[in-house]
Amino acid sequence: MPGLLWNDTPIGYARLALERGVDRYPDGLTYGIPEGLDTLAVGDRVVAPLGRGNTPTSGYIIEMVEKETLDEAMADRIKLIHDRDPSGARLPRDVLELARWISSYYVCPIGVTLAGILPAAVKRGVGRVTRSWIDLNPDPTDQKTTSRQQASVMEYMRGLDPEQRPVELNELARQLGLGTTGPIKKLLEKGLLLQDRRTGIHANAPGSLSSRTVQVEPTSEQLVVINDVLEVLDKGFSQHLLFGVTGSGKTEVYMRLIESVINRGQCALVLVPEISLTPQTASRLSGRFPGTEVAMLHSGLTAAQRNHQWNLVCQGQCGIVLGARSAVFAPIPDGQLGLVIVDEEHDNSYKQDQAPRYNGRDVAIRRAQLADCPIVLGSATPSMESWFNSVARKRSTLHRLRHRAPGLTSPRVDIIDMTRQRRLMEDPQDQISAPLSEAIGQVLAEDAQVLLLQNRRGYASYIACPDRNCGWIDTCEHCDASLVCHSSTLGRSLKHLRCHHCQKQQLARKTCPNCNRTVVMLGSGTQRIEEEVRRRWPHLQEDAVQRLDSDTTRGNDRLHRILEEFGTGRIRILLGTQMIAKGLDYPGVRLVGVINADTALNVPDFRSSERTYALLAQVTGRCGRGLDQSTALIQTYKPDSRAIRLAAAGAFEEFAREELADRAAFELPPCRRMARIVAREADETNALTLAERIHGGLQSLVGRYPDMLLTPPMPCPIARIAGRYRFQVELTAPDAPSLSAMIAAARSMEIILPSENIVVDVDPVSLL
Ligand code: ADP
Ligand code: ZN
Ligand code: ZN
Repeated sequence: MPGLLWNDTPIGYARLALERGVDRYPDGLTYGIPEGLDTLAVGDRVVAPLGRGNTPTSGYIIEMVEKETLDEAMADRIKLIHDRDPSGARLPRDVLELARWISSYYVCPIGVTLAGILPAAVKRGVGRVTRSWIDLNPDPTDQKTTSRQQASVMEYMRGLDPEQRPVELNELARQLGLGTTGPIKKLLEKGLLLQDRRTGIHANAPGSLSSRTVQVEPTSEQLVVINDVLEVLDKGFSQHLLFGVTGSGKTEVYMRLIESVINRGQCALVLVPEISLTPQTASRLSGRFPGTEVAMLHSGLTAAQRNHQWNLVCQGQCGIVLGARSAVFAPIPDGQLGLVIVDEEHDNSYKQDQAPRYNGRDVAIRRAQLADCPIVLGSATPSMESWFNSVARKRSTLHRLRHRAPGLTSPRVDIIDMTRQRRLMEDPQDQISAPLSEAIGQVLAEDAQVLLLQNRRGYASYIACPDRNCGWIDTCEHCDASLVCHSSTLGRSLKHLRCHHCQKQQLARKTCPNCNRTVVMLGSGTQRIEEEVRRRWPHLQEDAVQRLDSDTTRGNDRLHRILEEFGTGRIRILLGTQMIAKGLDYPGVRLVGVINADTALNVPDFRSSERTYALLAQVTGRCGRGLDQSTALIQTYKPDSRAIRLAAAGAFEEFAREELADRAAFELPPCRRMARIVAREADETNALTLAERIHGGLQSLVGRYPDMLLTPPMPCPIARIAGRYRFQVELTAPDAPSLSAMIAAARSMEIILPSENIVVDVDPVSLL
C-alpha cells in the first residue's frame, strides 16, 4: 500500500475533508500525495491517517494545494494519504462546492457535511456483485462434450442469435432447466465456452405506484409559464417561483420543461418533499419518459438499490434525478445539470433537523447557481421566504396558475364554528359535528370517498386528573412535555403512553397519583377519530376505513398499498395527519373534512399561522379532482383567525401580504435572517451558564455589524428534551451576508463551537 510511511516525500499536496468531527471548516486538512497516486483529483474519495493514532479515515479531496502556499515548518510535518478509498467514489466539483458553502453557511465542519452526502450504501459498496457472462469460444480446442447435459448446453448456445449472447451464468442454467451451473463450468474448463467477469451493482428496480400517464395538451395558462421558462433555459442561472393553486397542473409544467432539458442531452434534478408521501408525482414523472433513465433517491430504497441509483447518476446516464431533500447532492456530472425543480417548496421536510441543518430548497438554489441553470420552485402555498424573494426582493420571477386544470372543479369550502356546535353535541368526547357528520353520510350514500384530517397522532394528547384543583397531567420523565396516549395494536382497548420527543414508552396510569381519581383522556388523535368514525358508520367494513399516519406506515409498502386501495375506491374514508394533505390526486374524493384546524395555530412559533394556512389550503385542494361538485368542511374554534378565514376563501395573496406586514413589524424572517443557538446540558444551571457565555460573546460582537438584534438567553419552548435542559439565544440580521459574517467571526473567536452541547441553526424552521 503506498503512502504508509509518512516521511516519504510527497509528489503533491491536497486539502482533505475527513469524515470525523475535526473542525477545520470550511477548508479541511492538508495532506501529501504519495508516489503512485499521481492521478488523484479533486472529488476523489481517499483514506488518510488521522490523529495521534493515525487512524485510517475516509474523506474527499476538496482542493489541490501548491507547495509554495504551505509554510515550511508545516510542509515537513505533513502526513501522506494512504490510498484511494475502496468504494472508488468520486464527487463532482459542483457537489464539493455545495458542501463547502453548506459548511460555512450552516456552521458545520466540512467533514461532517460531506459525511452526510455519500449514502452509507455507496461507501460500503452494498449490492456490488461480480457476474459471469458466458459465450461460445470462437476458437475452441478440440475437446468434446462428455455428458448429455454438456451437449445440451452447447446446442443451446449455438442456437442463440449472436445478439442474445453472452448469457449470464445463472440465467443460462435457469433457461436450460439445470439445477446447477456445474455442466457450464466444466465446459469453461474445457475451453468450449468463455466467460467474462464483470462487476456491477445489482438491485431490484425500486417499486412505484402504477399511474395513468396520459399525454395532455397544456392549457393556455400552462403554456405561458412553460414558454417563459423555456426562453431562459439556456441563459444561465435564473430563479422562478411557480405559484399555482392546487390542481392547476404544476406537474405538467415541470414535465414539459424536463422534456426540453432531456432533449438537449442534459439532466433535470427534481426535489419532492418525501417520495413515499408523493408517489403519484414520482410515478407520473418516471412514466412520462419511458426511454429515459430516471434515478430515484429516497428513504424507501434498499441499500443495494441506493448504491445502484447513485452509480447510475455518477455515470451520467440519467435524464432525471428525482428525490427527497438529500437528492440535492446527487452526483450529476459537472456540466450536465440543466434544470432544478423543487416541488412543494414550502414543505418543512426540506429542512434537515440534524447537522448539517440545511434547507434543501435553499441548497437547491445554490446548486442551480453553481451549475448555472434555472431553478423552478413550485407551490400552491409558497413559503413566506420564497414569496418575499419574488414579490418584494424581485430575486425570482413569479409565474401564476390561477385556475384548476381541465377536468377538475373548485371545491366549496365552509367553516364550521365548533364553539356553537359543541353546545349541540351530547358526548363531550365526540369530535365530528352534525354538519360534518351529515356531509360524510351523504357522500358515503353516493358511493364517493372522504378524506378526514386530524393533525395529531395517537389516541389522546393528554392524560389528566379530572379535578381542576389538582391539575395533574402525566408528563414525560425526561422531557417537559405531556405523554401522548396510543391505543395498542394488540387490542383497541389496551392503551400505552409515549413521549413524542424522546420516544420513551410506558403503561397508562388509571388513577391520579395525587388524589387517586380516575384519569381522563383529553385531546383527540387520529386513533380516537377512527374509533368515532367506526362507531358512527358501523355498516362500513373494517377495511373501508383506513388511518394514515406515521404510526400506520412504518415501511413504504404499507403506504403504497393503502394508496393503491384508496385509488380503487375500496377505502371509503381515509383519515390521517398532514400526510394526507400532500399531493394526493384522486378523482373519487368528494368531501374533505378537517376535524380541528386549530392544532397548528396553538403552537408557540411565529410560523404557526403560515403553517395553518398551508395545511388547510393543501388538504382542501385534495377534493374536486373529478367532475362532481365537492365540498371541504373546516371545523374550528377560531373561525375568525386570519389563516383559517383566508385559507377557506383561497386568498393566498391577501394572506401573504398581511402575514409579511406582521413579520416586518415584529422584525421576523423572512424580512430578517435568523440564527438560533441552543445550549443543552443535563444540568439546568450549566445549560443557562453556557447560554449566557454565548450571549456575552455575541454581545461583544454585535456592535461591529449594523442592525443586529440579539435576544437574552431564554428557556426553549420545550425547556427539556431527553434529559437535557435547553436555553436559546436568537440572533437576527438584516440580510444573509451580515448574519454569515457575524457567525463566522463568532466561530473564529470560539464564541460558538458546534458540539454536542451547542446547536447552531441558521434559518431555523422549528423553534420548539
Ligand atoms: P398540482 O400539482 O398543481 O396540484 P397536478 O399536477 O396534480 O396539480 O394536476 C392535477 C390534475 O390535472 C392531474 O390529474 C393532471 O393529470 C391534470 N392536468 C394537468 N394539466 C392538464 C391539462 N392541461 N389538461 C388536462 N388535465 C390536466
Ligand atoms: Zn420524553
Ligand atoms: Zn388529581
